[in-house]
Amino acid sequence: MLAIAIFFVGHWLSSVFFQTFFLHRYGAHKQFTMSERWEKIFYFATFLTQGSSFLEPRGYAILHREHHAFSDTERDPHSPHFFSNVMTMMLNTKNRYTDFVHHEIEPEPRFDGGYPQWKALDNFANRWPVRIGFGVAYTLFYVAFAPSAIYFLLLPAHFLMGPIHGAIVNWCGHKYGYRNFEVNDRSRNTLPFDFVTFGELFQNNHHKAGMSPNFAVRWFEIDPAYIIIRTFAALGIVRFASENSADHGTAEQIAA
Ligand SMILES: [Zn+2]
Ligand SMILES: [Zn+2]
Repeated sequence: MLAIAIFFVGHWLSSVFFQTFFLHRYGAHKQFTMSERWEKIFYFATFLTQGSSFLEPRGYAILHREHHAFSDTERDPHSPHFFSNVMTMMLNTKNRYTDFVHHEIEPEPRFDGGYPQWKALDNFANRWPVRIGFGVAYTLFYVAFAPSAIYFLLLPAHFLMGPIHGAIVNWCGHKYGYRNFEVNDRSRNTLPFDFVTFGELFQNNHHKAGMSPNFAVRWFEIDPAYIIIRTFAALGIVRFASENSADHGTAEQIAA
């Protein structure tokens, strides 16, 4: 039981951390910079922790930039206000993501470029034997440590970890919670202490100040990913993209 709990929570948190830190804040927004060596290390860590549901930075960045530009309009790839349920929303998101990955559609130039790229790793990670191999590894862990068969019901969450995080953030973050700012979309802050998705559920704060690496704004809000990123900055691993956001950015400061 303990081994399964540690594995589930560890996989959940590591996967969502690299999604928000590497794919979102670094890849899509360039809120901070890092050396090529650190970029490769974090790229590989994103692949390892997302495993069977790895999202490549290029597709993620293009889709996410569309989301900011068209937030909660018909052109938003995943607004909960244009889909009847979370499954159809995520299916639409997956199809558009896959079209960009396979170059079946090309993005507007303003949404392209400026994201990390490691084509050899993307090609490897996207291969079915690799995705299935991760799934087999998760299953073997459960075979070894699950106290009873009922625990195997948790396995689909491991297989689809990345899209599940996306679904929670995209659905809840634009539907449930409170607003600090009147912005031109329906974004909300769902949790004041967001340890579930490492700060991603401060959607309203983030839509107000997309370049701020700190998604928490008010005194009671805690963005756990930002605490880690600030530690990386203190260690010289990352550098904040602008001096405004380096001081560590409330939305008011960024907007001012
Ligand atoms: Zn959003
Ligand atoms: Zn964003």
